[in-house]
Amino acid sequence: MRRKKLYINTIGCQMNVYDSEKIADSMHPLGYRLADSPRKADLIIVNTCAIREKAVQKVFSYLGRVAALKKERPGLIIAVGGCVAQQEGAHIMKRAPCVDLVFGTHAIGCLPFLVDRIEKKRNRLVDIKMEPLIEEFDGVLPPRDKSEVSRFVTIMQGCDNFCTYCVVPYVRGRECSRKPDKIIDEISHLVQNGAREVTLLGQNVNSYGKKEGLPEFTNLLDKVNTINELKRIRFTTSHPKDLSGDLISAFGRLEKLCHHIHLPVQSGSDSILKRMNRNYTHSHYLDKIDKLRKICPDIAITSDIIVGFPGETEKDFKDTVSLIKAVGYDGLFVFKYSDRPNAPAARFSDKVNGVDQDSRLQQILQLQETVTLEKNRMLVEQTTEVLVESFSRKPGKGPEPIMGQWTGRTSTNKIVHMPASGDSEGNRGICKGSLIQVTIKKAFGHSLWGLPAESGTRIVCGPKGESCHAA
Ligand code: SAM
Ligand code: SF4
Repeated sequence: MRRKKLYINTIGCQMNVYDSEKIADSMHPLGYRLADSPRKADLIIVNTCAIREKAVQKVFSYLGRVAALKKERPGLIIAVGGCVAQQEGAHIMKRAPCVDLVFGTHAIGCLPFLVDRIEKKRNRLVDIKMEPLIEEFDGVLPPRDKSEVSRFVTIMQGCDNFCTYCVVPYVRGRECSRKPDKIIDEISHLVQNGAREVTLLGQNVNSYGKKEGLPEFTNLLDKVNTINELKRIRFTTSHPKDLSGDLISAFGRLEKLCHHIHLPVQSGSDSILKRMNRNYTHSHYLDKIDKLRKICPDIAITSDIIVGFPGETEKDFKDTVSLIKAVGYDGLFVFKYSDRPNAPAARFSDKVNGVDQDSRLQQILQLQETVTLEKNRMLVEQTTEVLVESFSRKPGKGPEPIMGQWTGRTSTNKIVHMPASGDSEGNRGICKGSLIQVTIKKAFGHSLWGLPAESGTRIVCGPKGESCHAA
């Protein structure tokens, strides 16, 4: 079979990243291997997100750029998948005539078949049917040449919450959970190939399995926690309304569950939360944060905020600022509200003007920048466990001249860079997948810099096939 090259541009969230990995794996039997540039590709797939208007604009501007490649090489196949494909369907082909294939969020399993048809018949295809196909990837396990330390695993798709600003229920469909044994099989396979951390993905992991009558999410966490050689478990996203006492207590019970939770609040104003259909209040949310911190005092908490939701007044915005101050987040993703097709808030009349949206966005970003830096500074001279994820030859931010740097994450999801040479004895034996003790020496806005702890450096493990010696 002729070896062909596939380039995937993922524009979107972790779910899109996971889908892209699955797409790459499912195209393997057709002879497609990943290319590092669209210039080298026989097939370009743009895997898209429609959450915010900006993401959609990004997709069309990228298609404009790859259209030039197609002029040079008319045999190049260009496909658009994901949420924008689901939302726009055949309209994409009108707006971007270079596109050969549009496949929706439920057609990923059919992709090899669709591409095969295009290769043979050179026709243009659109497949945006919405069928509950959560099992479509169960049979697709990654080929053995992947060895990333940290991997995503989707445990459920779609969403039934219908927050009024959100397009997800319309482009990803109704909530649907995968069976626990399929999830465990996939994680075990990833671990055999070098993964040491998994992030379980779903729009609201708290409702995992409820519709299907499957055991609860915490039960799934218990099972994942028993997988040998897996060192860390993360999950995202948890909806505050459904964050149960049982899940909160898992942070105190499961040794592999990382001390970090992403708990999107969106707004601190009760009236805006109501209009968003979020089903919790400012004080309910703070109550859950208290409970989390009681069980797990060092837990890092991050969140999503939407500024300028229709009808948001200065008073509403102040309530959001006051909630942000009360929680003291480790990090925030802040978005300006944008209308999304089908989402009810698009029809709300009292839109906030762009100037106020910009100003509110900046105020929150500035506030959070200070808090994040303060929190990072508090870690200086503390020793913490880091899972090493990658090596880069680039010089780092530390004081010594170095050959390169290792990068990993703390359990609280903070990025830590470490020198790969220099005067630190403790660097000996570090490799991708090592779980090591690191003393933090410097704090920056988005990362930390540290040295493997001088004495008692504990190198717990390395992925199979890589040599690793304890210092
Ligand atoms: N399911 C998750 C939850 O409920 O928190 C989040 C899913 S959504 C993919 C990621 C984030 O995008 C949301 O938390 C929200 O902050 C943001 N978002 C969604 N729709 C938006 C819109 N119309 N305008 C601006 N931001 C939006
Ligand atoms: Fe969208 Fe709300 Fe579902 Fe999250 S919970 S995906 S914000 S509808």
